[in-house]
Amino acid sequence: MNIILLGPPGAGKGTQAQVLTERHGIAHLSTGDMLRSAVASGSELGQRAKKIMDEGQLMPDELMIKMISERIDQPDCAKGFILDGFPRTVPQAEALDSLLDSKGTSLDAVIEMRVNEAELVSRIEARINESTQVRSDDTVETLKRRLEVYREQTAPILPYYRDKGILKTVDGMKSIEEVTDQIEGILQAA
Ligand code: AMP
Repeated sequence: MNIILLGPPGAGKGTQAQVLTERHGIAHLSTGDMLRSAVASGSELGQRAKKIMDEGQLMPDELMIKMISERIDQPDCAKGFILDGFPRTVPQAEALDSLLDSKGTSLDAVIEMRVNEAELVSRIEARINESTQVRSDDTVETLKRRLEVYREQTAPILPYYRDKGILKTVDGMKSIEEVTDQIEGILQAA
């Protein structure tokens, strides 16, 4: 089972991906986590990524496509995967299609987690207040830039998948459990 979770930053994609990964024994592929590991390792890629992430901008498509292509080839993806944070642009979505095609597989569902932006801003504020280990891109200013980038570059992916008939939408404003139930309902029907 290959799934994409789509939604603006702070929508809860990572939280849902974690639950679904445990339940279904499939891999959780978070490009944000991969980039944060690169930052922590201090590699050249990490240094480049840190600057872009802190600005709330996107990494180059080509680099991200290569990263995900190599990750999908790992043995833990054999049973399927949940993509969290990829694709983020239409070129990434197109490249993913041809990539999966070349590997003899395809997407089962693309799930949009819909939330309202005011709620997102207050969720991030809560994360900043509660957490001792704050992500360096967890600031209200960066969030606003990331929301803008989402609207401009990532939201156009929605019609791309809608046209293919595989886009489903859940109400991301509900509780974690209720959102999981909505997603499970979609996966059963897929
Ligand atoms: P995330 O944890 O998914 O919110 O990602 C954190 C940051 O990593 C984003 O704001 C981008 O700067 C970068 N990033 C993650 N995934 C991608 C992607 N697919 N394409 C470009 N940049 C990405």
